[in-house]
Amino acid sequence: EAAINRIAAGEVVERPASAVKELVENALDAGARRVDVAVAAGGKTLIRVADDGHGIAAADLPLALSRHATSKIDGSDLLNIHSFGFRGEALPSLGAVGRLKITSRAGAEAAEILVAGGQMGAVKPAALNQGTVVELRDLFFATPARLKFLRSDRAEMQAISEVVKRLAMAEPFVSFTLRDMSGGGEGRVTFRADAETGDMFDALHGRLARVMGAEFAENALRIDAGREGLHLTGYAALPTYSRGSAVAQYLFVNGRPVRDKLLVGALRGAYADFLSRDRHPAAALFLDCDPHLVDVNVHPAKAEVRFREPGVARGLIVSALRHALAGAGH
Ligand code: ADP
Ligand code: MG
Repeated sequence: EAAINRIAAGEVVERPASAVKELVENALDAGARRVDVAVAAGGKTLIRVADDGHGIAAADLPLALSRHATSKIDGSDLLNIHSFGFRGEALPSLGAVGRLKITSRAGAEAAEILVAGGQMGAVKPAALNQGTVVELRDLFFATPARLKFLRSDRAEMQAISEVVKRLAMAEPFVSFTLRDMSGGGEGRVTFRADAETGDMFDALHGRLARVMGAEFAENALRIDAGREGLHLTGYAALPTYSRGSAVAQYLFVNGRPVRDKLLVGALRGAYADFLSRDRHPAAALFLDCDPHLVDVNVHPAKAEVRFREPGVARGLIVSALRHALAGAGH
């Protein structure tokens, strides 16, 4: 079991940023309105994610650490998934490659459990006001070969920051903080986004300003278009706000962050007349559809998706963005 978890961990946890992604997604799946992430040494020595979600009952803590024990689907309809996680692999994987401590409160009592190198301890009473705190120390201490592949603290922190910003963009009504604890004490806040208010467009616009800057948000074009069961909403930037890399592309399918060739290609196609090959359009776009029209179950990292009708998705993106650009005088 411990060996299986370590092998699975290689799929789920490539680097500290992938651990952060899994833990923040779990917080969001638990209905958190606040997610606080603290890391030290680029996540290599410490990753801590605290949320105010519904928590885990003491009796369920060992279950949460068991392979394929997810509370999120019943197995009958894998396509119809509304949560970020559904494989029940993240926590067992993290417990196999690091020292994991989960403290959680559901109802009146809080409890904690420790697992290190796949060895699970006993559930003990703990003190916690609300939600869940998951602390992962010494990632990959049990798999030194993996440690060698990690990049500098700075580079790993950068990757963590991007993961947090991507999920913050996906959930504008939730407040996020990212803190670097490397210097000790209370740490240094490197990203903060308070919960946005208003309707979906208001909230996304506010979050866009927070993540990309106010000037960017003020000059972003509002996108709201649909065809054949697919709906595209969000904001796309004028060509002048393009970047030298794809960091400013925030793409979501049914609420999940994706980095999908088809969608990135469609985005590029829409701007093809206005941008040279080395420039990347900036945008935050949400493609929503019936879960049966898209397969998100392609890879554990879930960054790619497969559309039932790729041509429709591509056509919608290209036409909606071209229309918006034309309206802005392009
Ligand atoms: P998955 O997210 O695929 O279900 P995980 O291994 O990430 O699998 O988590 C296992 C289970 O632990 C979840 O299904 C959920 O019931 C519980 N869990 C994990 N993190 C949290 C959290 N922050 N708040 C509440 N429950 C959680
Ligand atoms: Mg999960």
